[in-house]
Amino acid sequence: MHNDPTNSPDLDCWVDGANGHADWPVQNLPLGVFSADDGLPRIGTAIGDYVLDLDALAQGELIEDEDVREALQQPMLNALFALGAEAMQGLRSRLSQLLTDSDYRAVVGQHLIGKDKVEMELPALVGDYTDFYVGIHHATNIGKLFRPDNPLLPNYKYVPIGYHGRASSIRASGHPVVRPAGQKRPAEDGAAPVRSPSARLDYELEMGIWIGEGNALGEPIPIGEAESHIAGYCLLNDWSARDLQAWEYQPLGPFLAKSFLTTVSPWVVTPQALAPYMQDMPKRPEGDPEPLDYLQGGPEKAALGIRLEVLLSTEKMRAAGEAPYRLSEGEAAAAMYWSAAQIVTHHASNGCNLQPGDLIGTGTLSTAEKSGFGSMMELSEGGKTPITLPNGETRTFLEDGDEVTLTARAHAEGQPGISLGECSGRVLAARG
Ligand code: MN
Repeated sequence: MHNDPTNSPDLDCWVDGANGHADWPVQNLPLGVFSADDGLPRIGTAIGDYVLDLDALAQGELIEDEDVREALQQPMLNALFALGAEAMQGLRSRLSQLLTDSDYRAVVGQHLIGKDKVEMELPALVGDYTDFYVGIHHATNIGKLFRPDNPLLPNYKYVPIGYHGRASSIRASGHPVVRPAGQKRPAEDGAAPVRSPSARLDYELEMGIWIGEGNALGEPIPIGEAESHIAGYCLLNDWSARDLQAWEYQPLGPFLAKSFLTTVSPWVVTPQALAPYMQDMPKRPEGDPEPLDYLQGGPEKAALGIRLEVLLSTEKMRAAGEAPYRLSEGEAAAAMYWSAAQIVTHHASNGCNLQPGDLIGTGTLSTAEKSGFGSMMELSEGGKTPITLPNGETRTFLEDGDEVTLTARAHAEGQPGISLGECSGRVLAARG
């Protein structure tokens, strides 16, 4: 895949401003669902400062593959995802050709729409959503708050841990975050809990994995095939109410502390686009066990060469016209103990069927250093150490009016950087 011409840094795209575009050069070609004036959701790709209407291209018969042409005329990406990696690679090759061969400029150019004229929607109908916990530094940091001497439980280095999340409350970037209310641990043992708006509302910096072609119920996915079941990647914010979580999480794990909202970035950046940016998995620390057989022998380059960032903008900062403040930055590859391929294979290893449009969260991606911590809970050490912002405001958790934005860029030597876009949400006061 590394020699795929669609990834070449030398491509020359005829769309104004697309060559050298910081986020959406022709090497990226993410897939998404947008709506323009008529409000109807349509499939598109991002190119420079434009969205290219792929539904219109398909109707105009500029896409040769009949199955792909039909899938592109759906209002969601599920049907395209279901066609599998080869069909998606075929589409990518065709789009790259259409956007670099100036003979197509007139016929394709009429379907470009300015980014400022569209709204981005959730790219697929999510049947199931699972959130993992593969960020080993996050798991260690959180574990330390509860068990200082023994932060990681003994299963962590054998099992990619996950829980089943809520699919109905997943939204695209920009959806407001209404502060949830819920039960909290009583101040004294034996007393009744109180119910009130969360005072420890947090974000979690995660990547999302969109499932492409599914597997039949009862048929696991061998690790060598795992990547071909991944349709693409996005950013994911697993908003979390830590006070609700602390009271409800035992014995069955997260529930209402997380199911009130999950936000994703709207563009699906494909494995084909990310191929040149994949790296070797970091070596497991000395003394760690080898993964069991079914989790070994995956793709050679299984780690994502992606730089992640978290930005915070408070109401006061926006009123004063101040730029968002960077809370953290770090590398995805340095955070993930398990690869995306291992996550997919483990998920299906009991015969569980994954379906096109299923969404998988990686878990919070913190690096070892504080500058790369992926949640407020970690940055403020469980609320004990406030973060001071440049304007003097302090935070231990999120306040009403705060806006959190996750961003990510894939990078590799000799390649243009490509973006995964933005995943953003602003906190609104609790209701009722
Ligand atoms: Mn999470």
